[in-house]
Amino acid sequence: AKHQGRSQYQFYSPEINAQLQERLALENELRGALERGEMLVYYQPLVDLHSTEVVAVEALVRWQHPTQGLVSPAKFIAIAEANGLIVPIGEWVLRTASAQSRAWQLAGLPPIRMSVNLSARQFEEPNLVDIVSQILQETGLEASSLELEVTESFLMGDVQRSVKILKQLRELGISLALDDFGTGYSSLNYLKRFPVNMLKIDQSFVQDVTSNRDSAAVTNAIIALAKSLRLNITAEGIETQEQLEYLQRRGCHEGQGFYFSRPVPPDRITQMLKKSSQQ
Ligand code: C2E
Ligand code: CA
Ligand code: CA
Ligand code: CA
Repeated sequence: AKHQGRSQYQFYSPEINAQLQERLALENELRGALERGEMLVYYQPLVDLHSTEVVAVEALVRWQHPTQGLVSPAKFIAIAEANGLIVPIGEWVLRTASAQSRAWQLAGLPPIRMSVNLSARQFEEPNLVDIVSQILQETGLEASSLELEVTESFLMGDVQRSVKILKQLRELGISLALDDFGTGYSSLNYLKRFPVNMLKIDQSFVQDVTSNRDSAAVTNAIIALAKSLRLNITAEGIETQEQLEYLQRRGCHEGQGFYFSRPVPPDRITQMLKKSSQQ
């Protein structure tokens, strides 16, 4: 009873109340943000660690809030997941990113993959595969240029259904990446059943790969696992030359992180691609 009393007290504490107020305000403003044109897509390059060329970009949503400036997805994705707004937002991101990718191709820029994050809520929608297929048709982007990023945790909910949907997505011709790999609880047994092309080593391991033996061990194990399953492997969150060199030595295929570039607006990617096509 004492414990309960305490947690109730905490619920009404001014700090928690302020946090709750902020969340409620943000949630209210999030409704309609898409219609008001406040959502933006930034893109972060993925680099081939052997050639150091840009081979893909990841689409990352941003909210241009009328008074708070650019709000990071860390602040609003969880809210959008909870109230379901992530479904229309995620669909809009996929359409915007696909159209952008097609526009780069039509401009004659070097072909790159476009990678888009899928949320658990989108994955639960019964018509996900139709929506993806429709967006590809609408934008004229070939399926082989598109990659969707999923996480182990939401695939583990209903494994049979997940496998079925992943297969249908692969049949469209798109690639699939397992995001934040190493942080979930999935057993290797399931990994074998999910028809994915790519593992993305979570940035928490990459961040101290050169200073922490455990992180290095996990990173090495993931790279070895990916190789034996013939999966491509990307390291996320590369910030230093030491991390880059470590991952290159280990034979990691691709990398992404502030060392190469932060997520940037699309015109910055256009400039990067123009430069690399001139070389
Ligand atoms: P994520 O999918 O794991 O995306 C990578 C995050 O790591 C991005 O944060 C990126 O800016 C950040 N990052 C990349 N390189 C570095 C680095 O070198 N150092 C550090 N410290 N961070 C780095 P961001 O853009 O804030 O996105 C956070 C998360 O929000 C994403 O994590 C993803 O889970 C979610 N998210 C973003 N956009 C979307 C979207 O369109 N749909 C869905 N469902 N989720 C999204
Ligand atoms: Ca991702
Ligand atoms: Ca990630
Ligand atoms: Ca993450």
